[in-house]
Amino acid sequence: MARIGGTEITIELGDITRSTTDAIVNAANCTLLGGGGVDGAIHRAAGVKLLAYCATLGGCRTGEAKITPGFKLPAKYVIHTPGPVWSKSHAERCDALLRNSYFNSLSVAEENGCKTIAFPSISTGIYHFPLERAAAIVAKTFAEYFTANPESCLERVTMVCFDANTYSAYEKAFAERFD
Ligand code: ADP
Repeated sequence: MARIGGTEITIELGDITRSTTDAIVNAANCTLLGGGGVDGAIHRAAGVKLLAYCATLGGCRTGEAKITPGFKLPAKYVIHTPGPVWSKSHAERCDALLRNSYFNSLSVAEENGCKTIAFPSISTGIYHFPLERAAAIVAKTFAEYFTANPESCLERVTMVCFDANTYSAYEKAFAERFD
């Protein structure tokens, strides 16, 4: 566990659809109409009303974030953000877009009064963003966000990792940045 100002940063191994945080983040695609991986799992657990609601939103650009109710999920809200599809020839652009996905999701959570939020490892599945590189960007972005927003109402931010390899990558990146 790390702390930046009044906010705890934690890492868990598990399934984000079971998170009881105020908001969970969905690694969505730009249509917001569902997909595989964590997106599919969130839509299955939330029920068909989530898809119907998302269909009214007109999609979402990469790195931006849109909020919906959580419907049947334990979380009150889902914050949908399409991360970048990794491209080695546009690596720095991908880094900036991944940073935007985390930063804008935190801003949207804050605007909606959330105290707790859970993130999956955005872009490191089907979108093939290199895991260690992503984890370092996430640590840097959390530091940047909470340094810029010392009065944040977010009390806890959790990375929910679906496998041990992902957990280890975030544990190492957070230890290097925060300890
Ligand atoms: P992307 O398209 O952004 O790469 P994916 O869903 O393919 O998104 O993968 C992002 C991460 O989410 C991967 O580490 C994957 O193992 C993980 N993941 C898949 N299902 C879940 C879940 N139910 N809870 C948390 N993480 C999940």
